Amino acid sequence: MNVVFIVILIVFILGIFFYLGISIYKTYLIKNSIALNLLKEINNKYNFFAFKDKTISISYDNEKYFENISCQDYLTYYLRENEQEVEKFLKYVKSNICKYDLYKKEVKNIENFGLYRKNIKIFSKKFLIFFEKKLFIKSQLDTPKLSFNIKVNLSRTDLYGNEFEIKKNSFNNKQITELLKRLNSKTNSFYNDREIWNSLCRVERGKVTNKIRFQIFERDNNCCRICGSTQNLQIDHIKPISKGGRSTYDNLQTLCERCNKRKDNN
Ligand SMILES: [Zn+2]
Repeated sequence: MNVVFIVILIVFILGIFFYLGISIYKTYLIKNSIALNLLKEINNKYNFFAFKDKTISISYDNEKYFENISCQDYLTYYLRENEQEVEKFLKYVKSNICKYDLYKKEVKNIENFGLYRKNIKIFSKKFLIFFEKKLFIKSQLDTPKLSFNIKVNLSRTDLYGNEFEIKKNSFNNKQITELLKRLNSKTNSFYNDREIWNSLCRVERGKVTNKIRFQIFERDNNCCRICGSTQNLQIDHIKPISKGGRSTYDNLQTLCERCNKRKDNN
């Protein structure tokens, strides 16, 4: 019992000496190492942008809409609505990449260990350089964020709002930039790119949730706005989605199936 206690005590005391020894080395190096002080200056000079990836979560209570929409469709729609914000993050990424390359170069240039402002003979030079290298690696700035990702989660919910099907996808800088480029190649209010335009239309159509559907029926007193019929009622976009109409309260109306078809044919 006593032996165990003495061993523990000795290990403890040795530990304290070891710790004190290291902190004396550390204090000396932080004050006097030319490499460490240069690194500190460089660290202060570089400000990297800090930001998070974006996650978009959307739920659908309509099976048909959920089946039709892909994560990329939703990303396209999101990019059109939030172009400026996303471009800001892409700029941050570019800036971080450029600055980080410069930072690494500058750090490499000062890896000149063993030069001290004040030389104290009692320290072993070998140990000093050993600790200096360790401290130098530890003091370097963390790798900044060099990419921006957007994650899209689309889920299908039942009548009670429980999710039971999910589509997930994550998009990186390159994919986002590519989509933005395609989105920007527009003439007037319509898009040349059929695939892009179809994505936008699918998402817009999917915005009519069951809740909105009931609200519109209720607002229109559950009858067709053209003929007054109360049979086979449908939701119609006053300005069609294919012509740039949105799924907003003002652009939706109640029509019966017949009037809706007749309107489509015109
Ligand atoms: Zn009608």
